[in-house]
Amino acid sequence: MTSLSDQQLQSVISNLEMAYRWHDQWYKNLLRTFIARIPPNPSDLTPDSHLRCCFGQWYQRAPIELLDDQPSFSELGAKHEKMHSLATGLLRRISDDRTIALRDWDQFQSAVDDMRTALQLLQKEFARMAQGRDPLTGAQNRAIMRSDLLEQHALVQRGVTTCALAMLDLDLFKSINDNLGHPAGDAVLVATVQCVKAVVRPYDRIYRYGGEEFLICMPGVNSDQSRELAERIREAIAAQKIQLEDVGQCVQVTASIGVSMLSQSRSIEESVGRADKAMYKAKAAGRNLVVVDV
Ligand code: GH3
Ligand code: MG
Ligand code: MG
Repeated sequence: MTSLSDQQLQSVISNLEMAYRWHDQWYKNLLRTFIARIPPNPSDLTPDSHLRCCFGQWYQRAPIELLDDQPSFSELGAKHEKMHSLATGLLRRISDDRTIALRDWDQFQSAVDDMRTALQLLQKEFARMAQGRDPLTGAQNRAIMRSDLLEQHALVQRGVTTCALAMLDLDLFKSINDNLGHPAGDAVLVATVQCVKAVVRPYDRIYRYGGEEFLICMPGVNSDQSRELAERIREAIAAQKIQLEDVGQCVQVTASIGVSMLSQSRSIEESVGRADKAMYKAKAAGRNLVVVDV
């Protein structure tokens, strides 16, 4: 799960598009240098040439969250550096009027292909991420939930992993809308998702299941650990003080959480249904509670 905000995500997507064009222009200029034997761009001859091109300059300024939670972003950086270093080697040879061995050229070309593939894969990954997001809260939407749960269920069926599901519903949320207005309600939904994201592990995912209902998918969690994690989420939400700028007021909310496990013997719908029923039991038992039905 990425910790990038919607704005950062959109900016990364458009920058990756630009990055491809910058790289393509750099590559075309390089070919002209080799073919027409014109003097190389001096910055392409330096050991840090990968930091001097437009792509490299952007890469250095990219949000830190990208490096933290997208391993493929760090891999792209490494591939880009390797490509530049090979290009520098080739350019030094023609600057010294030496010939270029075919295998050196092939090695460089394959580094170019590697870097382009990495860039395109990353573009697809981010586009999928943006498409799958609920625009208000930044949680994943139900289409992505469906495809992720199918993937997790297949792993559970093969005995590769366990996976807990937590259905979370905000308590008496309607009263926030009624008393403070719909925009305040929206702000509470946004703050709740941010709070859950801060508590869960990087590979857990939160989906907007309905209005103020969220499903959290926790791969690798067994039935014993599931209660502890759900309790941690419940406590963090209850402790959070949400500052509502528009109404100049601070609010606190609570959530009721129902937990179930994905299972070899049940369909995904059955497991989600169990989590939902458990959540309603938590409501009936007084709210701000976790009920586990594994
Ligand atoms: P309970 O503790 O039983 O869950 O009570 P509740 O008030 O949370 O439940 P109820 O289902 O009565 O109300 C849910 C409210 O959530 C009603 C709906 O207007 C509101 N809601 C749903 N989606 C949104 C949204 O995107 N923004 C805002 N502000 N409110 C929303
Ligand atoms: Mg509710
Ligand atoms: Mg509800």
